[in-house]
Amino acid sequence: MSRQLEGRVALVTGASSGIGEATALALASHGAKVAIAARREDRLQMLARRIESLRSEALVIAADITVEGDARSMVERTLARWDRLDILVNNAGVMLLEPVDTAPAENWRRMLNVNLMGLMVATQAALPAMRKQRDGHIVNISSTAGKVANPTAAVYAATKFGVGGFSESLRKEVFKDNIRVTVIEPGAVATELRDHMTHAETKQTIEAWVNSMRQLQPEDVAASIVYAVTQPPHVNVNEILLRPTDQER
Ligand code: NDP
Repeated sequence: MSRQLEGRVALVTGASSGIGEATALALASHGAKVAIAARREDRLQMLARRIESLRSEALVIAADITVEGDARSMVERTLARWDRLDILVNNAGVMLLEPVDTAPAENWRRMLNVNLMGLMVATQAALPAMRKQRDGHIVNISSTAGKVANPTAAVYAATKFGVGGFSESLRKEVFKDNIRVTVIEPGAVATELRDHMTHAETKQTIEAWVNSMRQLQPEDVAASIVYAVTQPPHVNVNEILLRPTDQER
């Protein structure tokens, strides 16, 4: 494995499972030091041991990204430990699919607060250090739901379309300081994401749909992130849309 990211420092949010966990491992295996943030600290501690076994360093940060102070202190703690931040992967997310008619506003609030507010606050917190370095890369995890809006995904899609809009605007604000912005838009990935859905009928429909295909694995998405962050400095991969071969919409 080439260690193209040796000397680089990454912060991955939502690193306690799924895509975030696989991304933290992939970045570490390419030599990056990785700060790993989420609420489940026990999972992060186990991941830290795996990162260390890859001859890298890990920093465990227990954080609820919906708490503004936590979202900012993830960045501060990373900088306090390694004195730089090269790659921020805004990956933490929740997906509570259900029809608009009956959805509790609390479910909408959770998605807005994690998928959008958390990502935006963490990004803002990272910018001063990246501007000072005149180097940085912000990778925002959207979804095919950030490209195509389907029934039962109205608010999830609203958050992911929001990630796309935020990212493109951000890119135009920061590129002159050599900061790159990449949006990753995966289709169905085999993770815990769907386990948190509360609307039984929608959950059943979605599970039947994903079981009809060969889903992406978290490592497939991690590989796309590694691709984006290992390009030469003059190349900004703005967007990667990847679906399972079997996924139509
Ligand atoms: P997982 O459920 O496995 O991972 C979600 C991560 O987000 C967990 O580490 C979780 O950590 C973290 N998280 C959730 N709420 C919070 C919070 N309040 N504060 C801090 N961290 C939080 O799902 P995925 O790996 O699939 O999801 C990762 C991203 O990928 C999400 O943005 C999702 O929308 C996106 N995505 C996923 C797809 C899929 O099919 N799986 C497809 C397209 C996009 P903890 O609970 O420990 O806090």
